[in-house]
Amino acid sequence: MSMFHEINTPLRTIMTPGPVEVDPRVLRAMSTPILGQFDPAFTQLMNETMEMLRDVFQTKNQWAFPIDGTSRSGLEAVLCSVIKQGDKVLIPIYGRFGHLLTEIAERNGAEIHIIECEWGEVFEQEVIIEEMKRVQPDVLAIVHGETSTGCMQPLDQIGPACRELDVLCIVDAVATIGGTDVKVDEWQLDAVIGGTQKCLSVPSGMAPITYNDRVEQVVAARKKVERGISTEADQKDVLNPIRSNYFDLSQLQDYWGPRRLNHHTEATSMLYALREGVRIVLQEGLEERFARHRFHEKALIEGVKAMGLELFNDVPWKLPMVTCVKIPDGVDGESVRMMLLHQFGIEIASSFGPLHGKIWRIGTMGYSCRKENILFVLAALEAVLLRHQVKVQAGNALQAALNVYESKNIVVKS
Ligand SMILES: *Cc1c(COP(=O)(O)O)cnc(C)c1O
Repeated sequence: MSMFHEINTPLRTIMTPGPVEVDPRVLRAMSTPILGQFDPAFTQLMNETMEMLRDVFQTKNQWAFPIDGTSRSGLEAVLCSVIKQGDKVLIPIYGRFGHLLTEIAERNGAEIHIIECEWGEVFEQEVIIEEMKRVQPDVLAIVHGETSTGCMQPLDQIGPACRELDVLCIVDAVATIGGTDVKVDEWQLDAVIGGTQKCLSVPSGMAPITYNDRVEQVVAARKKVERGISTEADQKDVLNPIRSNYFDLSQLQDYWGPRRLNHHTEATSMLYALREGVRIVLQEGLEERFARHRFHEKALIEGVKAMGLELFNDVPWKLPMVTCVKIPDGVDGESVRMMLLHQFGIEIASSFGPLHGKIWRIGTMGYSCRKENILFVLAALEAVLLRHQVKVQAGNALQAALNVYESKNIVVKS
């Protein structure tokens, strides 16, 4: 009948900073039959997912639920629900995703203040705090783990400073959630956005978020319920209604909360996937999971260095789940990537902007972060580099990685 075959994808080893390989348990959960969105059997799954998300975010916040859409939908939902026309937003930029926060805040009418540092660096927290005192912004928006540069910005002093200066602290933790500590309550972060296709190892298409009462107050003041479903009590004049319907956190709260007021149709299969994904995270244990990410990162780093390659992000603020390797002089980085893909079925990433053509980025996230993947990518990279006439220290990489794997009592810092 049709000219098109049934889907038959090649099997890949995905070692990028997302999307990454998905745990087979999550794939199985996704084939669960559909339920109606108000079926108690389904709303129970929604509630359970919220409960587990709170643990993953290490928070007691009431609100922890997914936005339907990729990670940037979570960023858009939080930023557009919080930022009013003319609000001052301070954004420290140290890579591509800081620019994305700027772009979204700008489109929502914010008065933008940015500070930038070189790609590969992060900010001293004191520098950001001083800038907040100077600018007196309404909102600070900042990336926790910059996948474009493989760097991680410390936040533990920034959150408390925001509280003191009455600034809302909004954090992009898309790359870090489920892979390293994101201590929402302890660091006093007001709103945090996670991602699914990174360390949670769920397909892309949802963005778990959490936010506290400080954010809820701002959102509540801008609340406007859709006319077709509102009651008389809902109909009051609102000074600065949230501009987006889809991303309106006040209406989303009514959908995820006890009122169960109809909004969008929840993405059924993705919710099954997210629920199973966070269940796996909590079953493994946060500490154990973070330690696993550190452990395989160490094996990868030792292997890369033993080969004679240099890291771009060999710094104390290295993002544990992204290892950036400098492309040796004279080597066509894309040709190496393509050969890895076509000969070995391995995908690694290039980078953006000023780093394009300068580094490869190897992700060790979630289900992809496994011993056999690390050994495979090291072996394949060595072979492909030899094919590209790079004088690597042949044979050393796997031995160095195996040394890490065989040292049982290795101290893993999480
Ligand atoms: C991947 C990523 C995003 C964007 O994710 P999408 O799911 O592609 O929208 C945002 N921020 C950071 C830090 C990321 O790594």
